[in-house]
Amino acid sequence: MSHSPTIGLSSYLARLLAFAALTTLALVATPSSGHAPVARFDALPRLAERLSQPVWLAHCGMRVVEWRPTSAMLPETSLGPSALAVLDETCRNAFERYTDFLRAKGLPRLRTRPDVLPSISLLPGNILLDGKSLRALNDLPSRFEAVAPGCCYWGLYVDSLNHLFLRNDPLIRGESGALEPNPRFVRTLTHEISHILSSRMGVWDIAGYDRQRDEDLAEQFVEFMGMRFPAESSAEDLAFHRGRVPYAPATGAVARADATAVGKLPGAPAPSASANTSEQGSSPRSR
Ligand SMILES: [Zn+2]
Repeated sequence: MSHSPTIGLSSYLARLLAFAALTTLALVATPSSGHAPVARFDALPRLAERLSQPVWLAHCGMRVVEWRPTSAMLPETSLGPSALAVLDETCRNAFERYTDFLRAKGLPRLRTRPDVLPSISLLPGNILLDGKSLRALNDLPSRFEAVAPGCCYWGLYVDSLNHLFLRNDPLIRGESGALEPNPRFVRTLTHEISHILSSRMGVWDIAGYDRQRDEDLAEQFVEFMGMRFPAESSAEDLAFHRGRVPYAPATGAVARADATAVGKLPGAPAPSASANTSEQGSSPRSR
């Protein structure tokens, strides 16, 4: 974790205290299984999980270092040019508009360009399929518990690890049966890009970090980019992929004020101040 010397002291202290609180929590937590507690670094891909050739995404300025498909949906979730193009194009659109967005929100920034950008892992995310399997996006017990002690996520940006963990379904079958960009994946990535850019352009170094404000800003950016549908539940996601309901989100649907707040567990400890998430819309449908 590196900070530029110009970082705001209050912001730095806030992050330090949040991290200290999390560390304390980790120290006192005694896992009933008797296994060693999960550490922050367990979230990162292990050597054997890393791609032998990381993939550079030019418009993201980021490298994909881990990519795990879902065996039940190999065409939609395998590493290939179409899937990579969805990521790169989403970055291109989001990066182009982010400065305008900050200006529209009246938010200051320390840098005109982001400093060091994260590496990316694409992992199975749907908890009704393989999203909770070992080392998947919602494998909290052995991978993410130290950075995201809640469930469940479509995306997770961990500032202190400088790593973006993302659902792996960039593509979806359209009505013709051909693979097309998955609008819900694009929504998740756009939301996460707001977390990344606001952090890496130093917005919070000036404005002071506030987790809820960061979440709200990410949702507002999704809307700014023209996506007016809420984050879906895991059951809805499965139905989209299986073609039981039209895959395209209803146009003109009004976004919930804060779709990402829906899945919050009441009374659950806040994750690390630097873990920024896209939560799976939770409802009785996503048991
Ligand atoms: Zn978020």
